Amino acid sequence: MRAEWRRCLAVCAAAALSACHTAFGPEPIEENWHTYEGARVTFFVRPGSFAEQNVARLTEVLEDQFTSTVASLRLTYAGHLHAYAYNSGAEANFPSNYAGRAYPDTESFRFVAVAPIGDNLFQLASHEANHVLITNGLGRAGTYFMTEGLASAVLSETFHQSGRHFLFPWTRSRRAQLPRVSTLIDEEGWQRTPEGTAYNTSASFLAWLLDTYGPDRLRQIYPLRSNQMPDRIASVYGRSLEALEAEWLRFIDGL
Ligand SMILES: [Zn+2]
Repeated sequence: MRAEWRRCLAVCAAAALSACHTAFGPEPIEENWHTYEGARVTFFVRPGSFAEQNVARLTEVLEDQFTSTVASLRLTYAGHLHAYAYNSGAEANFPSNYAGRAYPDTESFRFVAVAPIGDNLFQLASHEANHVLITNGLGRAGTYFMTEGLASAVLSETFHQSGRHFLFPWTRSRRAQLPRVSTLIDEEGWQRTPEGTAYNTSASFLAWLLDTYGPDRLRQIYPLRSNQMPDRIASVYGRSLEALEAEWLRFIDGL
């Protein structure tokens, strides 16, 4: 359910820029995990769990996401992901069953895997995998806007339609209420914006920016702090943030 997307992403936001993000990984391996080693993703699942029943499909989705993210951002990352699938939010100390958290320094992430198998679960696992892939490929982003927006902007839609097929219509349907991009790149502005709106608007803008102007320019603005962003965007893209925003909105209006 889309409403739950917001709560999940709030957890991601806390993980992405907080100090504990770098210091701790998932719990050590206990005997009540089953391990499934894929080419570039190893899954840790509870014996007999929903995740274990669907581990082949989940592995397929994340292998595809790995390929897609590396290609779309021209990453050189060739590491190995470690995905921990929990049976409930309570078991993982998350606020809901629709939540995840990434630990890029240990190339790992954890998320709750509950039925049904499909778009919501695939995009949740893929978003967390993207935090690991992008942070290891490009270093730390300088803003929540880039950290969270890009992890959803590069969602592959091979196995679901929760990337561009969701983001662009979502922004079009809320066209009159969208926050300004200048608000989202500001950390305080981000915090003031409702989470779902902040995530989806940022991801829609960044997906369009990536599609229109390619990864090389995006990589140049990726690490910038809020106060560096407007001037560097103007020099990298040859136009102001406001001009890019207007261009994106014309694209959205034309859908
Ligand atoms: Zn996130």
